[in-house]
Amino acid sequence: MDQVYLKNVSTLKLDAGKCTGCGMCVTVCPHAVFEIKDKKARILDKDKCMECGACKRNCAFKAIEVSSGVGCANAVITGFLRGTEPTCDCGSDKGGCCS
Ligand code: SF4
Ligand code: SF4
Repeated sequence: MDQVYLKNVSTLKLDAGKCTGCGMCVTVCPHAVFEIKDKKARILDKDKCMECGACKRNCAFKAIEVSSGVGCANAVITGFLRGTEPTCDCGSDKGGCCS
């Protein structure tokens, strides 16, 4: 199934000037947001991005920016219950999905 999240809300940004076309973002993205074209990464569909942060964490050239971890359901619910900003306490330092 083609999953699309909320339209035009993803914070994902790609700096083509820093991109070397290594392809790591294509490998790690669970939603096939990127492709490599003419030796550079390209965003195919930004609305498919669930802001997991895997691409940013794995881009050795700091070509990707994304505010990760605030869009997952667990984070939103936890934030709601605590009356705080969204947080799910599953940071990458604990082996979780969010950075
Ligand atoms: S991981 Fe970074 S440098 Fe490599 S292709 Fe993706 S954006 Fe470009
Ligand atoms: S944040 Fe996650 S879903 Fe979004 S482009 Fe990066 S790896 Fe793909």
